[in-house]
Amino acid sequence: MADMRLVVVGAAGRMGRMLVKTVHETPGTALAAAVEREGSPFIGKDAGDLAGTGNLGIPVTNDVAAAFAEADGVIDFTAPAATAAFARAAAAAGIVHVVGTTGLTDSDLAVLAEAGRTTRIVQSGNMSLGVNLLTALVRRVAATLGPEFDIEVLEMHHRMKVDAPSGTALMLGEAAAEGRAVGLREHAVRVRDGHTGARRAGDIGFATLRGGSVIGEHTVVFAGDGERIELTHKADDRALFARGALRAALWARERPAGLYTMSDVLGIAAL
Ligand code: NAD
Repeated sequence: MADMRLVVVGAAGRMGRMLVKTVHETPGTALAAAVEREGSPFIGKDAGDLAGTGNLGIPVTNDVAAAFAEADGVIDFTAPAATAAFARAAAAAGIVHVVGTTGLTDSDLAVLAEAGRTTRIVQSGNMSLGVNLLTALVRRVAATLGPEFDIEVLEMHHRMKVDAPSGTALMLGEAAAEGRAVGLREHAVRVRDGHTGARRAGDIGFATLRGGSVIGEHTVVFAGDGERIELTHKADDRALFARGALRAALWARERPAGLYTMSDVLGIAAL
C-alpha cells in the first residue's frame, strides 16, 4: 500500500514539531503538508527545519483546504476551537482525523461525534500505550475496591500547559467513575481552596501541579483506612505521543467511519 500522506496541523507547536519528525521517520507515512494558524510567524518556514530533520521542502501553510485535498489523514494536537474546525474540514475531505488536543468542551466533542458519522476520527487525551493500560487498570481497581477507598488523581506538567486538569487526568477520573458505575461530573472535585469541610464520600478529587519541563506525570491514589494504592505513569519523551498518534492514523485508515479511542486502536477497550 502507498504511504499514508499526513498533514500535521499546529506544525510549529511542541507536539507539532515532534509529529513532523516522527512522520518523516516512520515507514508507511509521509508528510503531505504542515499547517499553522493564520498570522503565525512560522508560515512559509520549512516544516523540517522547524522540526530539526533538515529541510523537507514543505513550507508551513495556513491553506487548510489545499492541504487536506492532497492527504489521507490529519494529525491534530492544537487547541479546542481549531480542532472542531479541523474535524469539519477533515469530514468534508473524507480523510482520517487523529485528535490529541485536550481541553475539548462538550460542544467540541459533539462536533467530533458528528464528523465521525462521515469519516474516521481517533480522539484521546493521551496517545501512549502506558496511559491507556493505566486507564484500564484504574477502572478495574475502582470497581474492585468500592467507595470506602477515596480516589484522588494527581498530575504534573510543564509550565506552558494551558488547560487543567490535564486531558489524561480527566481520562483517569472517567475510568475511576466508570469502575464505580457513577458519573464523573457529579463526583469530580477539580479544585479545593479555603474551608472546604471534610471530604465527601464518593468524591473523585484532582490536584494539578505545573512547572519546569515535565512532559506528563499522573498518579491515581486509592486511599483506604490504613492502606493506600498508587498507580503512576511518567512520560519521559513527547515522541511517545507522536508514535501513538501515527499508529492511530494507520489503524484508522482501514476502518469504517466512526469516532474511535486509543483503547480501540490498541485493542484494550474490553480490559
Ligand atoms: P503548543 O502550544 O506548543 O502547540 C499548539 C500549536 O497549535 C501552536 O503552534 C499553535 O499556533 C497551533 N494552532 C492553534 N490554533 C491553530 C489553528 N487554528 N490552525 C493551525 N494551528 C493552530 O501546544 P502542545 O504542547 O504542542 O500541545 C498541543 C495540544 O496537544 C494540547 O491540547 C495538549 O494538551 C495536547 N497534548 C495531547 C497529548 C496526547 O497524547 N493526547 C500529548 C501531548 C499534548
